[in-house]
Amino acid sequence: MTLDITTLRVAFGALAVTLFVLFYTVSFRHTRSAYSAWWCVAIACFCTGSSGYLLDGTAHQVWANPLANTLLVMGTASVWASARTLRTSRPAWLQLSAAPLLTLLASALDNPATNTWSGGPVFLGMMSLTIGLASWELWRLPSSYSRVQAPLAVASALLSVLYLARCLVFVAVGQEGYVFATFFGSGITTLISMLLLVVVSFSAAALSAEQIATDLRARADRDALTGLLNRSGFLDLATVQADRLARTNRPGTVILADLDFFKSVNDTHGHAAGDTVLKAFADACAETVRSTDLVGRYGGEEFIFLLPGASVSRSEDITRDVSMALRGNSTPGGFEMPTVSYGIAAIEVSDYDLPAAIAAADQALYAAKASGRDMSVRAIRPAGKGPGSSAEPPQGPLRVLEE
Ligand code: GH3
Ligand code: MG
Ligand code: MG
Repeated sequence: MTLDITTLRVAFGALAVTLFVLFYTVSFRHTRSAYSAWWCVAIACFCTGSSGYLLDGTAHQVWANPLANTLLVMGTASVWASARTLRTSRPAWLQLSAAPLLTLLASALDNPATNTWSGGPVFLGMMSLTIGLASWELWRLPSSYSRVQAPLAVASALLSVLYLARCLVFVAVGQEGYVFATFFGSGITTLISMLLLVVVSFSAAALSAEQIATDLRARADRDALTGLLNRSGFLDLATVQADRLARTNRPGTVILADLDFFKSVNDTHGHAAGDTVLKAFADACAETVRSTDLVGRYGGEEFIFLLPGASVSRSEDITRDVSMALRGNSTPGGFEMPTVSYGIAAIEVSDYDLPAAIAAADQALYAAKASGRDMSVRAIRPAGKGPGSSAEPPQGPLRVLEE
């Protein structure tokens, strides 16, 4: 059976247009992600590039053939760029344009008016290289990234190997050689490319959908104003952390923080100034705690910390550092940053009861407020389980109670 190359190319073009329209409407318009934008560029290049070959054998071959080669390599370079966006946001413009430019140069200098395989080895080599790089990018992602990265990486690797084999056979036997014409010619490759394009496009759409779900999940767990975890996001992660502490028999602390007389900041300087203070407090927390600590906005001007492995006295140092970092921030109106009161409770090694620790920290915070604010108070929990607790009597502003 001889595959009719013109029919195959028309079919490939029609398939690429259909995939482009489907991918654009189903995936890109919803995600607007850099990943799906590059994938749209790739399909558009495959579509226009493969139609360029339909002008082979006409007077237009001289420009259409090199342009078609270049567009196809631009398409595979875009697939590489698309895969890169999953790992880094910076497109490598120089590397991305090198392969298409080399292909254009080689094709334009290789008698494109009469030679339908102008620049053949360079074209095939660049296709193999760019698809191989896309596959490599997908392998480099952490295995937990997505369910479809492995099939995508395998499909890209197979296509890269196919183009490498075509390149080598082309160099060895030439375009008229039996092995090249029979096993690696345009007909069979167009057919394989069509199948892989469908597989890869569906996987790419699935990956985009997964990206949206991950993004929505991340947004649902975050407080929009400060970027910190919100209450439910904090409690979900803190529960996991507390279980981990219990398994490894390590201590930890919970801190509740509340800005002092924050209402008067709003009343005196306006709500926008109040928002700036809340953001400044979040920044002060971020620059003070470790990456393994959890910080969340518990509500209004109240914040919550979980410090795995920290002792109560270490936590007192942290509250002092957070307050100092907050004071170091400037305010829009030049007014002084508010002070902060803290309640600190240890997560008991005996029971790892997170709600009890939060309740105890809340009581201690209440005691800090009642004793004049701008201080940390340690909770004293009674022996055994349960949220019932009291707080050590405070000793004065900005001072942390000694044990
Ligand atoms: P205390 O020292 O006893 O904690 O006094 P306070 O004024 O800080 O406490 P109060 O509970 O009376 O007031 C909290 C204020 O926080 C009231 C509310 O309008 C303000 N607030 C809550 N959420 C936001 C927010 O997102 N932005 C701004 N600007 N203000 C907020
Ligand atoms: Mg307050
Ligand atoms: Mg409050």
